[in-house]
Amino acid sequence: MAGIEWRTYEAGHCMHPQCSTRRRGSWKMVRFPSLTFLLRHPTHGTMLFDTGYSEHFFHATRHLPERLYRTITPPHLREQESLCNQLARDGIDVRDIGTVMLSHLHGDHIGGLHDFPHSPILCSREAWNDLHARSRLGALKRGLLPGLLPANFLERVRWIEDTPSVRLSGCFAEFEAGHDLWADGSMLAIALPGHAAGHYGLLFRAANGEQVFLVADAAWSSQAVRDGIAPPGMVTSWLGDTHAYLATLARLQRLRHAEPGLRIVPSHCGEHRPR
Ligand SMILES: [Zn+2]
Repeated sequence: MAGIEWRTYEAGHCMHPQCSTRRRGSWKMVRFPSLTFLLRHPTHGTMLFDTGYSEHFFHATRHLPERLYRTITPPHLREQESLCNQLARDGIDVRDIGTVMLSHLHGDHIGGLHDFPHSPILCSREAWNDLHARSRLGALKRGLLPGLLPANFLERVRWIEDTPSVRLSGCFAEFEAGHDLWADGSMLAIALPGHAAGHYGLLFRAANGEQVFLVADAAWSSQAVRDGIAPPGMVTSWLGDTHAYLATLARLQRLRHAEPGLRIVPSHCGEHRPR
């Protein structure tokens, strides 16, 4: 089967001190892009991996307590930077998007979901159940903004957990199993626990032969995958499970050593911003 054409978009960004994402990091302000990815599957059409920020994010956080989200992590987004506007400039209508896969449900990953009202959604049931078990404040504390989810979400979703499970081998064996999204081995959703409930990465073979692993927020930067330096425990325990996060990051670090040709792409790494 032919490989998958893919392209990176930056749908807004936020600025944070480096030390908020790296233990013993500096107070230097660093740009954290919100990267999203357009993939063209040879037989299953066009798919998005996450949606970044959009004007809907600002709408969802206009009042307290949700406004605290954008106070703590202030996003920057010009109107022309929203994903749907960038796709339109590239001649892609939102109706052309066959599937929107959500790596997890943090507001900076699902912020543009309302702009794709016709697309089926791929998401983790665990992530959905976790969000809906929380109070409004409990969700907000974990970076979750239910207002960004469309009212007809359940009519459109296909749960990642319901796709065929395959045992992983070779240098991916540590990740144990993946979900074969199209039952043809072309795209595997792989659980990357720790950052947030139901957090998944996506592994595929690109059209140029390169193997690509989109790892969302399992690492905040490629530097972290290289040196294994995690965010402060306060950050990882605030958002998820520090023990699981560290185990996942260590697995990614070992994977990089075992498979140097593999392109590992975190969602907020400046090294992977589109040029
Ligand atoms: Zn996240």
